[in-house]
This record gives sequence, structure tokens and C-alpha cells, in this order.
Amino acid sequence: MKLMAKWAGLLLAMAIVVPLFSAQDASAYSWTRTLSEGTSGADVKELQVRVAGWAADSASKTYVGVDGQFGPGTKAAVIRFQRAYGLTADGVVGPATQAVLNGLESSDGSTSNFNFTEFHSKDGTGFSGGKVDANTVKENVRRLMYKLEAVRKKSGNKSITINSGFRSINHNASVGGASNSQHMYGIAADIVVSGYTPPSVANFAKTSGFSGVILYSSFTHVDSRAEYASYGSPSFYWP
Ligand SMILES: [Zn+2]
Repeated sequence: MKLMAKWAGLLLAMAIVVPLFSAQDASAYSWTRTLSEGTSGADVKELQVRVAGWAADSASKTYVGVDGQFGPGTKAAVIRFQRAYGLTADGVVGPATQAVLNGLESSDGSTSNFNFTEFHSKDGTGFSGGKVDANTVKENVRRLMYKLEAVRKKSGNKSITINSGFRSINHNASVGGASNSQHMYGIAADIVVSGYTPPSVANFAKTSGFSGVILYSSFTHVDSRAEYASYGSPSFYWP
């Protein structure tokens, strides 16, 4: 009887310890506190990157500012994210929401359904040779990936093909890209969502914080130009 109680105690301890370990996986962002409206800091900034694809309920020229200030826009995005992932939709980012946010991250900093290589310039230069340095491109692509994760979720988890992600200046010229194409900064992608037409994909993009949305016959261009005013195209472009 005593031995069994000991085993039961050990099993109970293991049940408590195991989830703690997975929540503190080395690859995941280390959230150290519950975030809610009014809090600010680097962790709020990371939260904003991850919920940026949940900017609106219907097509709306708005985006989640990545400024480290947890305001009403961030709260609304968190609520949409929580609803989509079956969490308590209260706009408060505690351990359960943080675990889902971390579940979207891969160990190399990419997201669970996208790899950095999918966004590399097709002339073999990786993230180099653009209008901004390679580290900036990589961070821009990381932020783009989180928005694309939202598009993927809204499509019912259909796979997304990246026809074109980052383009070096040379590669952009060789494919006849626009002179200030947002692809050269790593904030644009030409995408195909399996089973969806370009207009349907555009509708997903217009609720996901994308400020450049352009329809082509077989794919949809999405970019975040309004968030990066210094890149020279600060206005929404939804022709
Ligand atoms: Zn494009």
C-alpha cells in the first residue's frame, strides 16, 4: 500500500514535470509573465509579431503595430488568435496562449509551416544582395511567416506555396520586378494557397495585416509596405 502510494506520487510528479519541460523547450520564446492591455516591452513586441496576421475580422486597411505597447489593437488581434486556436478568448496572454504561440515556432526561428529556404532569392544569394542587409531580410521574412501562418489557418490549414519570397536586386531585375519591389526587402511573397483562387487568397490577406495585395492570374502578391515606411512605399496598395 505504501509502495503504491509512492509510485502514484512519482507518476503525479512526472505528469506535472513533463508539460513544464515541453513549455520550456529550448527553441521556444521564453515568456516570463502574463501579458495584457497596458503592458509593454520586448515580449509584447514578440507577441505582436506572432499575432500580426489577426489584424481584422473583415477586409480592413489596418495592421498590428510592432511597437512593444500592448494597446487595444493588439488585444483585438490576440482575441482573434485565441478564438481561432480554441483558447479562452479574453485578450490576456497567459501560459496557455503562450504555449500555442510557441507551438508555431521552429527551432531555427522560422515558423512551423514555413522554412527560410522557401523565401531565399532564386538566384542563389540567400538573403543577400537586397535593399537591406541579410539579417534585416531574415527578420522581415520571419515576421512575414507569422502573417502567412494566419492566412494558412484561415484557409483551413491548406498548404501555401511560396512562388517568390525575397529577391536580390539582381534577381528582381532579371524577372522584371518593379523598380522598388518590396520583394527586395524581404517583406513580400507571391503565394498560392492550395484549393483557393487568387481573389479568395486576397480576402484572407486583407484581414491579415497585409498592406500590399495584388492579384495575378495564378498567384497573389502580399506585402507589408505600410509598416516599413522607410522602404519607400508607405501607403496601402490594394488595386
Ligand atoms: Zn510579388
